[in-house]
Amino acid sequence: MAVNFYKHGLSSKDAVGVAMVLDSPFLTSGAVGKQVEAQLCDYFEVPNAFLTNSWTNGALAVLLALGVGPGDEVIVPAMTFIATANVVELLGAKVRFVDVRADNLLVDAGLIEAAITEKTKAVFVVHLYGQMCDMQSIGKLKDKYPHISLVEDAAHCFEGRRDGDRPGKYSDAAIFSFYATKNITCGEGGAIVTRSPSLAGKVQKTRLHGMSAGAADRFKEGSYRHWDMDCLGVKANLPDLLASLLPRQIEHAEQLLSTRIRLAGRYRSGFKELPIRLARVDAGAISAEHLFPIHVGGDSRDWLIDELNGRGIQVAVNYRSVTELSYYKNQYAVDESLVPVSVLWGRGTISLPFYPTMTDDEQDEVIAALHQILVK
Ligand SMILES: *Cc1c(COP(=O)(O)O)cnc(C)c1O
Repeated sequence: MAVNFYKHGLSSKDAVGVAMVLDSPFLTSGAVGKQVEAQLCDYFEVPNAFLTNSWTNGALAVLLALGVGPGDEVIVPAMTFIATANVVELLGAKVRFVDVRADNLLVDAGLIEAAITEKTKAVFVVHLYGQMCDMQSIGKLKDKYPHISLVEDAAHCFEGRRDGDRPGKYSDAAIFSFYATKNITCGEGGAIVTRSPSLAGKVQKTRLHGMSAGAADRFKEGSYRHWDMDCLGVKANLPDLLASLLPRQIEHAEQLLSTRIRLAGRYRSGFKELPIRLARVDAGAISAEHLFPIHVGGDSRDWLIDELNGRGIQVAVNYRSVTELSYYKNQYAVDESLVPVSVLWGRGTISLPFYPTMTDDEQDEVIAALHQILVK
């Protein structure tokens, strides 16, 4: 039996919302997006949410609003997707790579504080694989360094929480992704949540060219109103055509999460006897279980990928250490002894097929294949 790496859960049943947008006057950002933003405010218990057309463009809008630019440093964990570092580079600031903890692959307050310099303008805290970092203690860094902004890369962590808290509570902003493979998806999309009224006011502009009013608001009540531009922004708004795919998924987020938690539990018990490492989910944390990565030692990773592919099982790698990719090697030449955990994990990790519509039979096939390959 072939097992796909990923299958999304949308179907033509979800076309109803799209059809309603097509019958309305606005194809781009309008009433539907506003309704989803209100839904996000409820879900995350925050006063401000902004839909964006990707995590990446949302992050650019946030960094622009925070004034990140040339001369600044932004702390980024080496174990993340390239986008987290790329947005810093795109704005002419410098990435300061930090390592992650060996047990849960997350940054913590100590790792971040050790990387702070007088140039540090912001920190990206990455909730890798769906597990929230310890934001309560990371948030306390704000008391000691009030001029440094904390931004959560919550692309993996829509449903995740720690000690009852969700992303957006202890940071300046949390940014989500609705990219095709993420837990909640509309193909391409994202969202920013923030508790800060002043950051919200700026993001409102930086996510749309720096304009003082979006298209729907410019034509309110039938009469045209002038707009101004007083800051530079990106084009990051999400069209209603895509936003219309989100409300149902957000409503059912907890149900989808319980399926992910059940499947992750089946993998974990299926792998008890195998010589592989798993990322720990800490007591008090409820992971969004976005991906299911395993780690194998030595040089056996690429061999294991071939063995699994040979049995029709699709896998991926999330991620190699960003410091190991050519662009960052050339720009920064970070010595691997500075980010040893990220480099080691990145050389041995494989993400297994994992999604809520996966059947128990498909999962058993993956578990059996790993036993066959690894138990001699
Ligand atoms: C997917 C992802 C992003 C980028 O999201 P886009 O919506 O594709 O821009 C950023 N960070 C992490 C950790 C991701 O997994």
